[in-house]
Amino acid sequence: MKGFNFKSAANTKEATKMAAAGRATFLAGGMTLLPAIKLRLAAYSDLINIKKIKSLSGIKVSSKSLRIGATTTHADVASSKEVGKSIPSLAVLAEGIGDPQVRNRGTIGGSIANNDPAADYPSACLALNATIHTSKRKIPADKFFKGMFETDLKKGELIVSIEFEVPEKSSYAKFPNPASRYAIVGVYVAKLKKEIRVAITGVESCVFRCKKLEDALSSNFSSSAIDSVNISSKGFNDDIHASADYRAHIIKVMAKKAVSIC
Ligand SMILES: Cc1cc2nc3c(=O)[nH]c(=O)nc-3n(C[C@H](O)[C@H](O)[C@H](O)COP(=O)(O)OP(=O)(O)OC[C@H]3O[C@@H](n4cnc5c(N)ncnc54)[C@H](O)[C@@H]3O)c2cc1C
Repeated sequence: MKGFNFKSAANTKEATKMAAAGRATFLAGGMTLLPAIKLRLAAYSDLINIKKIKSLSGIKVSSKSLRIGATTTHADVASSKEVGKSIPSLAVLAEGIGDPQVRNRGTIGGSIANNDPAADYPSACLALNATIHTSKRKIPADKFFKGMFETDLKKGELIVSIEFEVPEKSSYAKFPNPASRYAIVGVYVAKLKKEIRVAITGVESCVFRCKKLEDALSSNFSSSAIDSVNISSKGFNDDIHASADYRAHIIKVMAKKAVSIC
């Protein structure tokens, strides 16, 4: 592992100031960052520990939205009474991430900042019309996820919290890789006050919304409405875990499952 300076920030202002220097980056749960450094896939001059910043952690709920602090762990989301009551599908998603060690170290902010093509939370952000609150601005989820491991975040910009719209109904169905639990296909369906959103992860280089499924469910919110939807596998991931055609098939299976348990 290459050498780096380890610094702990006491507040968000200090963290963003520290991150502006050299090749610095934030360290949250370390579940992705540390293996990447260890495997020499990435190298940094400074790691800025943000886990000691109290204001970055916690869950707040109102009648319209649910706000989760960036360093809140997957285990805390999975076991939160507030999340279970207002958006139960989000608690189910968090409970299905990795294993107990990953869920107790990994954070929601780290997950969406990393934007792994097979990560679960990006699909929740898109389907639940989330707003990403950063140290500089508010970013709608539709503009946040840019490509493989790429987001709209600028250097030194810190995710502070993620605000989800509370839906009328929602659910997440995942066909997981049996080893890592990352999504081979994950489908998040949300019936919001004004629209229906369907987000898919694990299938392309970046999470995306599926207009065909959204249109079908907007006319008839039932799993049978999905039968006639034609999902083309063009551009889908085709790898050792699943072929593109298999993924296209599984999208419909997972979408039907998600709607039936909504
Ligand atoms: C064995 C294993 C299995 C896993 N299985 C799954 C799975 O099934 N589903 C799934 O979705 N994920 C899975 N993960 C990923 C895991 O859930 C973590 O969420 C993810 O690794 C990143 O979160 P972290 O808090 O550990 O971030 P870190 O590793 O600390 O950081 C990741 C990146 O995000 C940046 N960052 C962190 N916090 C912020 C912030 N607040 N603002 C701006 N940038 C920030 C860091 O600088 C770094 O670039 C798995 C990981 C492992 C190791």
